[in-house]
Amino acid sequence: MKDVKEKCGLFAVYHAESASMLTYLGLFSLQHRGEESCGIISFDGSTFSFHRGMGLVSEVITETELAKLKGHQSIGHVRYSTTGSSAFRNIQPLFVDSYKCSLSLAHNGNLVNTPQLRKSLEDRGAIFQSTSDSELILHLIMRSRKESLEEKIVSALKKVNGAYSLVMMSKDGIMGVRDPHGFRPLCVGRKGDTYFLSSESCALDLIGAQLIREVKPGELVSIDDSGIRSRFIRRVKKKAYCAFEHVYFSRPDSVIFGETVHIVREKLGRRLAREKPVDADLVIGVPDSGTSAALGFSKESRIPLEVGIIRNHYIGRTFIQPYQQKRELSVKLKFNILKEVIRGKKVVIVDDSVVRGTTSKIRVKNFRELGAKEVHLRISCPPHRSGCFYGIDFPDPKKLIAYQRSVKEIERFLEVDSLGYLSLEGMLDCFQEDRSNYCAACWSGKYPVKFRQADKYALEQEGKRR
Ligand code: SF4
Repeated sequence: MKDVKEKCGLFAVYHAESASMLTYLGLFSLQHRGEESCGIISFDGSTFSFHRGMGLVSEVITETELAKLKGHQSIGHVRYSTTGSSAFRNIQPLFVDSYKCSLSLAHNGNLVNTPQLRKSLEDRGAIFQSTSDSELILHLIMRSRKESLEEKIVSALKKVNGAYSLVMMSKDGIMGVRDPHGFRPLCVGRKGDTYFLSSESCALDLIGAQLIREVKPGELVSIDDSGIRSRFIRRVKKKAYCAFEHVYFSRPDSVIFGETVHIVREKLGRRLAREKPVDADLVIGVPDSGTSAALGFSKESRIPLEVGIIRNHYIGRTFIQPYQQKRELSVKLKFNILKEVIRGKKVVIVDDSVVRGTTSKIRVKNFRELGAKEVHLRISCPPHRSGCFYGIDFPDPKKLIAYQRSVKEIERFLEVDSLGYLSLEGMLDCFQEDRSNYCAACWSGKYPVKFRQADKYALEQEGKRR
């Protein structure tokens, strides 16, 4: 892995002496959610200061820049573009300043009615600065005739469909929202009098804050001098938590959708070992996201777990590379195989997913060249056969290895001795909530939030351009 791109990571701080420094640390923990660009905005009671740029948090936010981001409240964003090209103008957080209010906003997810809404706003004179769907939300908020900012936000969000977790900051405080289906995670943390909003709880651990709770699907949480307030934009019966967050995207030390990701992945690995057993000498997990599932597979199958792949962490995630032609080199740069461990052995590699298949094929070839006797591959989720329109970048199904291919055909393509995927039921059974509360559209093709054909077409074209 990985041939798909992560969406974004959000972090917000209210009431801290050095809010921007805490935001910096938060973003540092969320770096895996987007390596293309990042930004921080702070507010000191009179002035908003911001710094944004292309690159990793450690590259963009220097000590000098951080010192300029003064104030007691701040929000930040790490990004990989899911709509809008990889351009500087799409870097978040976004900021708008008008006589009505000043507001900054950072977004994780994808709206599915963007083309339709954008056209209607442009027809009425709106001028967009960026090509991202996040700016659309800002336009809708600023155009609302409601009195209070909270009311404006609620009325704007009633018009949008799809996946969005947002953090926002006004002069009065910070706000966090999750869409009614709860596709993307967002949680609230606290340390003393300081409050935090974060995409994942791992960022709270780094700064010694406690996870209070997750923002509920459809909930708007406002944090200011009067404390925390909660209200709901809209409630829907069925949730649509992104199952791929558990399988791959989120960090294993985070609690999302009520469960620790590592524990869930270990369960996926155990279930995989029961569903797709194999006779092998060693289990080897693909670091980092395949490690927990490999541990579960090993425990269940009683095949020893070995460290067979060493990851170089300093080159970025291979799937983050915006250009396809860099991938082969990226794989070799990123992973090294311990030949002494695998030589002459029947090896079962456990990975979290296979999307385009190119990375897995290269890895299997390398294992054989380095002397593995047999190479078996086990995947802790079902074959990806459909695109995602809710914020993950594999929208063109034809690029998926499992698109119109059987498992046997994929097995031949990858040149493995055997290939086994976890079943859809098996995967969903490993999560704590009822199966119907998870989105599994990229496997099942059943999309929980519907879209107009015209919008779907526009989103597909956007995906093909990337
Ligand atoms: S389609 Fe897949 S990646 Fe997209 S939200 Fe649903 S489960 Fe997550």
